[in-house]
Amino acid sequence: MSMRELTVLGTASQTPTRLRNHNGYVLRWDDEVILFDPGEGSQRQLLHTGITATDLTRICVTHFHGDHCLGLPGTIQRLSLDRVPHPVAVHFPAGGAEYFARLRHASSFHETAELAVEPVTADGQRITLGVGTLEARRLRHPIETYGYRLVEPDGCRMLPERLSAYGIGGPAVGELLRVGHLDVGGRRVTRDEVSVVRPGQRFAFVMDTGLCDGVYALAEHADLLVIESTFLASEAALAAEVGHLTAGQAARVATESGVRTLVLTHFSQRYADPRRFHDEARDHFAGELVVAEDLTTVPVPPRRVASAG
Ligand SMILES: [Zn+2]
Repeated sequence: MSMRELTVLGTASQTPTRLRNHNGYVLRWDDEVILFDPGEGSQRQLLHTGITATDLTRICVTHFHGDHCLGLPGTIQRLSLDRVPHPVAVHFPAGGAEYFARLRHASSFHETAELAVEPVTADGQRITLGVGTLEARRLRHPIETYGYRLVEPDGCRMLPERLSAYGIGGPAVGELLRVGHLDVGGRRVTRDEVSVVRPGQRFAFVMDTGLCDGVYALAEHADLLVIESTFLASEAALAAEVGHLTAGQAARVATESGVRTLVLTHFSQRYADPRRFHDEARDHFAGELVVAEDLTTVPVPPRRVASAG
């Protein structure tokens, strides 16, 4: 049974608070375990979740403001300390390579773990993974920033009763899948006649940004969208000025993009009551809504219902 879920390590923007660690998120998606934007304290937050350094397969950094990357030194050194046996891929905006180099070697340690460093050099860059495609899109923030999305391609689920109605079985099923059609008893049977589409799932990670095309490109039809909502509508002008979103904007993006589960996070410490983010977002989004708290887990919702092929 494959597992797809988000674990929230931290939810504070800018500075940690007594209740919120700096940013940090782990997406478990089958055999990929991706750490996004590890802020300060991420190593210790991981400990609370039971996710180990050895579990990690990949690290994605949206940009090099401290709340999104100051956890890199500890996390990277931990990979070596734990002698993680597999290479760990690392993605970040290429323009921040100098910051990455400094964070990677922030202090002395015995480096044994292998990092596969693959910076993002262009908007729309795609990386093919075993579980789908990881795509980076440029966001609008004072420094070079990319959001990420993971897109699983649509698949195909064979219908046994239709197959047997056509008298198709054994190796012929494989051939029908591969070729797309099969001639049986003088008749051509197409794959669509004996299968339904198995909709691929999508995860999107949008952080930090003002409203822009990249936000919508990432959020499109996401089953699970993690998106910053640093501010509330009362600070909309400030949000636009500094390149951030309000809870209301994030919720409208989710509705317009057909998002199923919306996770709001990266909250400014100026707001004491998280309920306000919920209430503002709820006015614009009717789906599953999570105002993230540290150390909570959010499942990727079950696959959308298959449609007739
Ligand atoms: Zn930032």
